[in-house]
Amino acid sequence: RQPSISQIDVIVIGGGQSGLAMGYFLRRTGLQFVILDEQNQPGGAWQHGWNSLRLFSPADASSLPGWPMPRPAATTAGFPDRNWVIDYLTQYESKYQLPIVRPVCVERITYDGQVYLVQTASGDYQARAVVNATGSWSQPYIPDYPERSAYTGLQLHSAQYRKPRPLAGLRTLIVGGGNSGAQILAEVSQLTQTRWVTEQEPTFLPDDVYGRILFQRATERYHQGTTGVPARSLGDIVMVPSVQDARSRGILTSVRPFVRMTPTGVVWTDGREEPFDAVIWCTGFRPATGYLQPLGILEASGKVRTQETQVQGMPGLWMVGYGSWTGFASATLIGVGRTARTTADQISRFLAPNEPLST
Ligand code: FAD
Repeated sequence: RQPSISQIDVIVIGGGQSGLAMGYFLRRTGLQFVILDEQNQPGGAWQHGWNSLRLFSPADASSLPGWPMPRPAATTAGFPDRNWVIDYLTQYESKYQLPIVRPVCVERITYDGQVYLVQTASGDYQARAVVNATGSWSQPYIPDYPERSAYTGLQLHSAQYRKPRPLAGLRTLIVGGGNSGAQILAEVSQLTQTRWVTEQEPTFLPDDVYGRILFQRATERYHQGTTGVPARSLGDIVMVPSVQDARSRGILTSVRPFVRMTPTGVVWTDGREEPFDAVIWCTGFRPATGYLQPLGILEASGKVRTQETQVQGMPGLWMVGYGSWTGFASATLIGVGRTARTTADQISRFLAPNEPLST
C-alpha cells in the first residue's frame, strides 16, 4: 500500500516533555500541528529511567506551562518519582487535547527549499515548519576506551540500568561523574564492591542546594553571566539522600580514568590491572537526531548549529529541549517552557505571510 502524505502547518517530532510544551504554545497560535512520537505510551524518556529515580525538584518547581504538577504524597518528601512524572505528562496531554500520534518513528527528513517532507513507516507528512524535540535518551554515549570490545564482563549504560539487585556480588566499575553516576554508585555500592571513575574530581553541591534552590541559583548566575549556562550548576552532583548516605559510608571517592580495558577488567595509568565483573557507563547521551542526516546539517555529536532554537541556514526548522545549546535549562521540566514559548512565537511569525498548507 502506498503511504499517504498528510499536509499540515507544523510538525513536532517527539512527544516527551519538550514536545508537550511546544504543543501547549502551538495550540494558542491557531496553527494546525501534529506531534509524532515513537513510543507506545506517554512519558518520553521518563519511561526508561531507573526504578528509584526521583526529581531533584519538588513538584511545584517541576511544572510544564499552564498546569502545575500536583504534589505527591508527603511520604516522598514532595520529590516526585518517575511514575509521578509519567502520570503528570499523560494527564497533561489529555488536559490540553494535544494531537499526538503514537507510535510513529520519524525515519528521515528532506527539504525542497520550501517544504519539509517528514518520512515515517506509517505515512509521510509535509510542513513548512518542523520542531525537533526528540531528546537524547535513545542515544546513549559510551567513550571509546581502548580495547573496550575485548572486555567480556557485563556492560550496561545508565539508559539500561533499572535496579541494583542483578549486580549483587559483582565487582562493579562505575564510569561517569554526573548525577547518574553518583546515584547509581550510591545504590549499587550497598550490594557489592564498587569503584568510581570520573575524568576530574566531581563537583558536589552543598547539601542544602537542590530542588528549587538549584534552579534559582542557576538562573541567577545565568542572568548575571548572560553568555550561556554557567559551566557549573545544573550538571553538578546534587546531594540527594542516597548520595549523602554513600558519602557517609566513604563510597563517594573517585579515581581518574584507566588507560585501556582487558577481557577481565581495566589497566590503570600506573600499569596495574584490576578485574571487574561489570561496568556501568554513566557517560551521557547524544541528541536523537539521526533522521536529520539527509539535510546535511548534523555535526558528529548529533548537534546542529542554532541561533536560540532556530537551526541556522534552514528556514522553518527548530530544536527544542536538548540542553544549554538550545536554551538555558531547556532539558528540564520547568525550563523547557521558556524556549517553547519563544519558538512558537517565531513559528507563528514565520508562517504568517503564507497561506497555511492545510487550507
Ligand atoms: P524525551 O523525554 O527523551 O522525549 C523525546 C521523545 O521523542 C521520546 O518519546 C522519544 O522516544 C521520541 N523520539 C525520539 N526520536 C524520535 C523519532 N525519530 N521519531 C519520533 N519520536 C522520536 N529534569 C528535571 O526537570 N528535573 C529533574 O529532576 C531531572 N532529573 C533527571 C535525572 C536524570 C538522571 C536524567 C538523565 C535527566 C533528568 N532530567 C530532569 C532531565 C529531563 O527531564 C530529561 O532530559 C527529559 O526527559 C527531556 O525531555 P524531552 O522531551 O526533551 O526528551
